[in-house]
Amino acid sequence: MADQDSNGSGPLSFFKAQHRAFAETLKTRQGTGGLIDGLLLQAWDSFEHNIAIQAEGQPPLACHKGCATCCTLRVTATAPEVLMIGRYVRWSDGRFKSIGIDLPARIADADAKTHGLDEAQRVALRLRCPYIENGICLIYQVRPLACRGHASYDVHACVKAAAGRAGEIPYSGPHRVVRGLVQNAMQSSLRDAGLAFGLYELNHAVCIAIQNENCYAEWLSGADVFAPAAITDVGIDEMARIYDAIQAS
Ligand code: SF4
Repeated sequence: MADQDSNGSGPLSFFKAQHRAFAETLKTRQGTGGLIDGLLLQAWDSFEHNIAIQAEGQPPLACHKGCATCCTLRVTATAPEVLMIGRYVRWSDGRFKSIGIDLPARIADADAKTHGLDEAQRVALRLRCPYIENGICLIYQVRPLACRGHASYDVHACVKAAAGRAGEIPYSGPHRVVRGLVQNAMQSSLRDAGLAFGLYELNHAVCIAIQNENCYAEWLSGADVFAPAAITDVGIDEMARIYDAIQAS
């Protein structure tokens, strides 16, 4: 995808094509019950399809089912992802409780322990993501793009980093790039549709989604319902400027 924008196949062209596709989904599905599903199925499908192309010839990933070494990091998510996970947690609550897992309580507990911590403090705490059970992600089907795009070539480096020992983790560049392009294209199209398009800390945002049954309707009306969980590493105005510059290029 690199260096080929003059013939319409580089990252910029990919971003714009993704943006158009998300805008079309927003246009056709806004006001229907399937908006969140439509946006995310598109995002996940696009991510998987393009990763398969971009990762061709790259070394095999060390990530595998049952490895949750990196699942102590802060997870960020967009509003559609938070709404989807909140819905999934509510829907699966009875089933999980029947096997002794109180997921809403776990999420609230993790949020209480981590809310307000920066990335380094969170790593030092080494608190497992509340969705982990026996090394398996309980929300695997609906996990955020941030988790899908976090992939390593070396499990030993991941283990060392998770234990607080310094070292570079050889992350997969294609996963990071494709995740960033797909996610930002979706955020940019949400912004154009007048919807809150920021990034949120997953646990705190999902707590809000579980507690507020009207959050989907409120988000659809343009409210930033997950604002208390907003990630401000890159300000919302700065993001808007970047999106405008990409569209104008
Ligand atoms: S949501 Fe799932 S994949 Fe993501 S950090 Fe938590 S357990 Fe890991």
